[in-house]
Amino acid sequence: MKVQSIVVLGAGSAGLMAALTLKRKLPHLDVRVVRSPDIGIIGVGEGTTAVFPRHFFEYLKLSPQTFYAEAEPTWKLGIKFLWGPRSHFFYSFAFEFEKRLPELARNNGFYYSDEFPWLGNASVYMAHDRCFPRQPNGLPQFHNNHAFHIENHRLAGWLERRCLELGIVLTDATVRPETGPEGIAALVTPSGERITADLYVDSSGFRSELLGQALGVPFVSYADTLFCDRAVIGGWVRTDEPIHPYTVAETMDAGWAWQIEHENFINRGYVYSSSFISDDDARAEHLRKNPRIPADKTRVVRFRAGRHQQLWVKNVVGIGNAAGFVEPLEATALQVICVEVSSLADSLIDSVCEPTPTLVDLYNRYNTAAWDDIRDFLAVHYRFNTRLDTPFWRAARNDVALHRAEGIVDFYRENGPSVVAGSALLHPSNSFGMDGYLAMLVGQAVPHGKPWNASANELRYWRERSLKLAAYAQTGMTVKEALTALRSPNLKWG
Ligand SMILES: Cc1cc2nc3c(=O)[nH]c(=O)nc-3n(C[C@H](O)[C@H](O)[C@H](O)COP(=O)(O)OP(=O)(O)OC[C@H]3O[C@@H](n4cnc5c(N)ncnc54)[C@H](O)[C@@H]3O)c2cc1C
Repeated sequence: MKVQSIVVLGAGSAGLMAALTLKRKLPHLDVRVVRSPDIGIIGVGEGTTAVFPRHFFEYLKLSPQTFYAEAEPTWKLGIKFLWGPRSHFFYSFAFEFEKRLPELARNNGFYYSDEFPWLGNASVYMAHDRCFPRQPNGLPQFHNNHAFHIENHRLAGWLERRCLELGIVLTDATVRPETGPEGIAALVTPSGERITADLYVDSSGFRSELLGQALGVPFVSYADTLFCDRAVIGGWVRTDEPIHPYTVAETMDAGWAWQIEHENFINRGYVYSSSFISDDDARAEHLRKNPRIPADKTRVVRFRAGRHQQLWVKNVVGIGNAAGFVEPLEATALQVICVEVSSLADSLIDSVCEPTPTLVDLYNRYNTAAWDDIRDFLAVHYRFNTRLDTPFWRAARNDVALHRAEGIVDFYRENGPSVVAGSALLHPSNSFGMDGYLAMLVGQAVPHGKPWNASANELRYWRERSLKLAAYAQTGMTVKEALTALRSPNLKWG
């Protein structure tokens, strides 16, 4: 296969990110996007991981200044979990549980206590509602251990403008695929135009028009681990609430709820299992918890968790929901899209746009394993959350399949939050690291057989350090202050 032209089906986040990445990395390619004005986009997906800024600002070298001005994001340092027996715990992107301080015998995870629910700069900032250190000149000291909260329509607008700048053509038409021996032969518009390309990116969302429907690639369900299949979404216009530098993930009767912080809007969504609660009861529970959501401004979104057996088949590559989906408990969908589109671009670059069967096979192995890896990490969130005693959570604790997380859980149960096993138990595509698992296992107070009896000196050191961290965090900048500083004429962009 020689790839000179690419048609992307769909202009949700996945399609636009695919088109933008491919055209930016391979400018000689002819890239076109086809989208249906009738079907529209899913319009959710507002929390990212730290992979997102790396993809756009380091890999694609796009201007952060334009992104901030047009997408109007806020910063996310991690997730505050209202989960398990503790009142809460923080999951940051800074790998704090595995760090080892020279003054202490063991890594940080062994010293975690409810008294100080922070282990380093990122979590102490989250605990004190701060996002960046304050420089003597009053401007924020930006760092890279953050992700974003972005309203979906603003992200889509920013992506679309970048695509147009690069000369990518966007065509409005609801198309039907025509198949041939090579896979897809053409996308046919209602007026009969046949849109053809060497490679088709299927970003048609859950419809999976090309990969799933036209080519019939089987779907591998994650339902034995992830029981949720719907979300009721609705938020409210912000008044004087502080803008938290984190997403909240809160245990609910038949699932969990997110809270995502935009500058002028608070977005709440309850992800639930329709086998355990009806849409009406889920909506009622959501509104009870969030009385500020206007009752007529909620909507239910349905989804299925899983992935297709292969993601690149013949001349079709699925990206985004058309390829696979897991619920946004770690807000990973945009991250997966970044990984999928960058590995596709790198595959084309490395093969000089003539991808070989072994390269396609490698692409499939890497990216399907990346999906499975996220499922396995989420399994730990469900299996050990003892916060509520409802039918849903009893079933989760009894029945959630851990898959490859089983080895990590066994190791933890025997050895505690030790990092020795680290990379040996993780898949190469894993972005959470052993630290992510430790945050969830220690955070949920999962018992283990090797508690560390810290000496009096160690405990004194830990206490003093924790108090110093708290004092340091209090001098940091809130999200609101950092947003004001961002718009200051004194800010110099590198
Ligand atoms: C409840 C929920 C919450 C989520 N929260 C997060 C989050 O916090 N963080 C995160 O990273 N992700 C999140 N996601 C996932 C995220 O929203 C999606 O992965 C992301 O938006 C990508 O969607 P998409 O582009 O694949 O699909 P869509 O947005 O559905 O786009 C599909 C595109 O295909 C086009 N199309 C389909 N069929 C045709 C056709 N026949 N002809 C022409 N065009 C066609 C449509 O018009 C549209 O443009 C969430 C998802 C759900 C369901």
